[in-house]
Amino acid sequence: NLYNMVQDLKGNIRVYCRIRPVFNPEEQNVIDFIGENGSLVVVDPKPLKDGKKLFQFNRVFGPTATQDEVYRDTQPLVRSVMDGYNVCIFAYGQTGSGKTYTMLGPTGGSAKDLGISYLALNDLFELSDQRKDITKVGFLTVCKLEFRSCASDNGMALPDATLHPVRSTVDVIDLMKIGEVNRAVGSTAINIRSSRSHSILSVHVHGEDASGSLFHSCLHLVDLAGSERVDKSEVTGDGLREAQNINKSLACLVDVITALAQKNSHIPYRNSKLTLLLQNSLGGNAKTLMLAHVNPEGDAFGETMSTLKFAQRVS
Ligand code: ADP
Ligand code: MG
Repeated sequence: NLYNMVQDLKGNIRVYCRIRPVFNPEEQNVIDFIGENGSLVVVDPKPLKDGKKLFQFNRVFGPTATQDEVYRDTQPLVRSVMDGYNVCIFAYGQTGSGKTYTMLGPTGGSAKDLGISYLALNDLFELSDQRKDITKVGFLTVCKLEFRSCASDNGMALPDATLHPVRSTVDVIDLMKIGEVNRAVGSTAINIRSSRSHSILSVHVHGEDASGSLFHSCLHLVDLAGSERVDKSEVTGDGLREAQNINKSLACLVDVITALAQKNSHIPYRNSKLTLLLQNSLGGNAKTLMLAHVNPEGDAFGETMSTLKFAQRVS
């Protein structure tokens, strides 16, 4: 398929960029041009500064792109889990750039515009019923991870992992709802807290192909913490420590992705729990998709540039 051909030519990391709509009419839209071929031109909102800058990705989704459109270009990758590949799809970008919208859906959890995690799970459950060449799909399990300040080990956030057996997307939706509630409880600064945690949904596929060989593969769907620097005036105490742990694990993921993109011989997986957890779906034969998210409003330009520069460096 097309994905594998592109991978053979380009290595194991693909990068898609998604731009959410402008919500504040007072802010200038920094997106100057979106090309069909994955090109993107942004313009510095301050006149006479950097001017225009061109970026190139595997694909760019503009503000009117639907969840289905995004999923259509992600589906071959998701489905390859059924062929035994380990896959990691992660949403990267500053808080408010649309990561959770892409992965789960709109704020408030309406049943409309469900995100690619749901679309992927639906697809995998449906596929596992249909596939003739797979004689058995043992079970699919989901593990929902939260990073909590109370569980900290050598300054690294420790994932609080639970493995839940699931049989349908409805089970998963219920699980995720529980996760969302847990995420908001126990903190007065709910916005800061939820944007400062990584949320990982892992789907494990156990199968047996027609020749009788067993396989186990894994799809990680990751909604990362916001990539922006933490303002120390906003959080103190445990909140600050948690934010620093989260920043550290995000920095470790950036290091791993960068090392993979540069084809370094040493990949520093062991520097954080996050990268250890994702290790089997990053590098090697695994397929990785980074969904870089951008808030197109002028006042976000600094974070937008750092997201785009990082995304371009690894693509
Ligand atoms: P993040 O998870 O990166 O902090 P969110 O996904 O919460 O950002 O998005 C911020 C707000 O913008 C939410 O209210 C979300 O529903 C809305 N939003 C994000 N992306 C889109 C989009 N592509 N289309 C419509 N609304 C969006
Ligand atoms: Mg979010």
